[in-house]
Amino acid sequence: MTHNPKYIFVTGGVTSSLGKGIISASLAKLLQARGYTVTIQKFDPYINVDPGTLNPYEHGECYVTEDGAETDLDLGHYERFLNVATSQANNVTTGRIYQSVIDKEREGAYLGKTVQVIPHITDEIKRRMKLLGDSGQYEIIITELGGTVGDIESLPYIEAVRQLKWELKPEDCIVIHLTLLPYLATAHELKTKPTQHSVKMLLESGVQPDVLVCRAEHPINKDIKKKIALFCNVTPSSVIEALDLPTIYDVPMAMLKEKLDKTVLSKLKLSAKNEPDMDSWLNFLTRHKNPKHEVKIGLVGKYVELPDAYKSIAEAFVHAGANRECKVRLEYIHSELITDENAHHKLGHLDGVLVAPGFGDRGIDGKIAAVKFVREHKIPFFGICLGMQTCVIEFARNVMGLKDAHSTEMNAKTKNPVIDMMPDQKKITAKGGTMRLGAYTCEITKDSKAYKAYEKTRVTERHRHRYEFNGKYTKDFEAKGMYVTGVNPDTKLAEIVEIKDHPYFVGVQFHPEYKSTVLTPHPLFVKFVKAAIEYSNS
Ligand code: GLN
Repeated sequence: MTHNPKYIFVTGGVTSSLGKGIISASLAKLLQARGYTVTIQKFDPYINVDPGTLNPYEHGECYVTEDGAETDLDLGHYERFLNVATSQANNVTTGRIYQSVIDKEREGAYLGKTVQVIPHITDEIKRRMKLLGDSGQYEIIITELGGTVGDIESLPYIEAVRQLKWELKPEDCIVIHLTLLPYLATAHELKTKPTQHSVKMLLESGVQPDVLVCRAEHPINKDIKKKIALFCNVTPSSVIEALDLPTIYDVPMAMLKEKLDKTVLSKLKLSAKNEPDMDSWLNFLTRHKNPKHEVKIGLVGKYVELPDAYKSIAEAFVHAGANRECKVRLEYIHSELITDENAHHKLGHLDGVLVAPGFGDRGIDGKIAAVKFVREHKIPFFGICLGMQTCVIEFARNVMGLKDAHSTEMNAKTKNPVIDMMPDQKKITAKGGTMRLGAYTCEITKDSKAYKAYEKTRVTERHRHRYEFNGKYTKDFEAKGMYVTGVNPDTKLAEIVEIKDHPYFVGVQFHPEYKSTVLTPHPLFVKFVKAAIEYSNS
């Protein structure tokens, strides 16, 4: 228990997409490796209550926590770096803030006062910013503010940070500002003016940043650091260089070299005695960078134009690949472009195929064609959520002869609804946060590939779906060779299906990718990569 939590706020300037999430996660990793208990939270300035209703094209993948929150994909980075689960409290949006304030207003909690952005919205922001600190579980709380300083919608957040900085002792609350130093090739020069301007913009809101992390394509020399320090009111050691790196997993080591963690600890008046223990991290990096094998895995999905839509899956392959000392080359394949006729051309060169999660019927026929091809050609297959549902449909149609088999999500009138809506979902009409979400237990049959991977019979995995394997067909599937090898012990819903007579054919109703981290690669991904290596060698 700690009663004096320290707050670090991370803001962004100059442009979006500078990687605040990775910088926050890297700093958190270093502080954790020095023995501090750390958590990270993200405040997003959009009005959606959560990103669950956002199209993946808009915002990338929707990440799901153990407690069933649909969150920003940065929470995935936090978990992958820290190996600690996050929760609903770790992601807050403007929509959620307003929703609480408006609910309170309707309850009459403001006693006739005019409800305003300041103080009511900012008070609610501050309350939520301190929630994880107040829990007593953490010594350090890093808060990433989404958006870019200067955005109209970020203003209440910056104001809340200003107030917290005023309320708390200077050593209990610091601000890290992440900016960009653009490189002008013709002048061979890194330019500091945009950084100066974005710090000025923060100052206009009354916030003096304590540390500047500067993204740059070229090293930032001492003179530039000094110049930035002088014009932005910080010490030269508080100007941190953040170069582009081959992988996001290099960033913690780069920040260690730049002493970001030490600088932060000294500002927070915390001891930096213990050097960070990064042995297991370095071990991961070594395996990741020195692969002995290489495989090509196809990721079949309909959001492939934006790889961020499948962020956690891509990262799970990095973790599993490092574990198997294997370079996994992911090939994103648009499901709408696959047919029975061209499947050989599209997939024949691959060592494994993953059919991705998704919603709606666009691209479903291509997914079915992909499953048919890899099932028949005994290419390792891994189906996740809709990918699992697809392999069930394909098997029903092409092995069991139920030609019209489908999911009622795609065809409500099918005579053979092998995938059907869960009964408790049928009454629900609202869209946000109403799916089956979060962690549920799965019991695994011993004689299965899943058991070989997990080496245990009881696991919990995260969910995000409305439809399910229809238990009425279990016996018919098993009679033809597709087995239910994982079930939810309470509801008896199917969690895992497998074909035994195949090197690796596993479909899971849950999302294993959300639980894969650098230090704990997911066993099903590890076994899938292993199967792909064996396939490529055969
Ligand atoms: N659309 C399917 C369902 O709702 C699968 C969801 C998913 O892949 N996450 O059940």
